[in-house]
Amino acid sequence: MQKSGKVKLPPGKRVAVNIGCDFDAQSIWIGSFNLTSPAYMSRGEFGAEVAAPRLLKLFEKYNIKTTWCIPGHTVDTFTDICKEVVAQGHEVAHHGYVHENPTPLSYEQEEKVLLMGLESLDRIGVKPRGYRSPYWDFSPNTLSLLEKYGFQYDSSLMGNDLHPYRPRPVEVHADKANVFGPAYNIVEIPVSWYLDDFPQMEYLTGGQEGMRPTRDIFDRWASIFDYACDQLDGACYVLTTHPQTIGRAHTIQMLEKLIQYMESRGAWFATLGEIYDNYYEE
Ligand SMILES: [Zn+2]
Repeated sequence: MQKSGKVKLPPGKRVAVNIGCDFDAQSIWIGSFNLTSPAYMSRGEFGAEVAAPRLLKLFEKYNIKTTWCIPGHTVDTFTDICKEVVAQGHEVAHHGYVHENPTPLSYEQEEKVLLMGLESLDRIGVKPRGYRSPYWDFSPNTLSLLEKYGFQYDSSLMGNDLHPYRPRPVEVHADKANVFGPAYNIVEIPVSWYLDDFPQMEYLTGGQEGMRPTRDIFDRWASIFDYACDQLDGACYVLTTHPQTIGRAHTIQMLEKLIQYMESRGAWFATLGEIYDNYYEE
């Protein structure tokens, strides 16, 4: 059985809400899509130079602390804005070096990428407590590596939707039952593609259409929040945004409305680190 837990909420609050900013900037186009032309680099530049400051201003307006998952490449390329994220009291989590897919990497290659990311974050004074895989996927070694380097939580898996849990390794078979191993100590604070702006909004030439109406996305995001609020105790709602996607004029206004809505219904806006600190199992 999965070991899942709850989040201890401050009095009067009904759901822990983390707004995550996966600050990929140019790294996602290089590492995930192999798209390095000036137009793709300009999309990342928009995310770093225009959208990230917009988001920081929005979070300051509502006094919300968020978690920024930042690849080392973004730290090294757009250092000043990453320092500003830290200066404003937001949490920073590890998010690879150049947005690599960890699934095909050898143990040594994956460890090297993990260390490169740690070194970049160290240059802006960050020792991350948590990790988010750039691909929302793992190699068989990822969890062991995260434990080796002292990470307390991960936020990349989908074994639950609205409660944190302890992830387990799974031995995969096609001709008999799969076998789960013992749970890791690390706490998984799960993500969901339904709570990610990128597939729904971001247009990729010749690929993903994106461009969903913001009203549809607001309705889905609010509906998931309502379920967590009304049907569950000690739930966590983990929203994944990307500055270059959510920071556009139409989308940032939708995000502001969502913040207002969730605040009115008792959201506790917390970093992933705070969710980890308040995790308990019954
Ligand atoms: Zn990312």
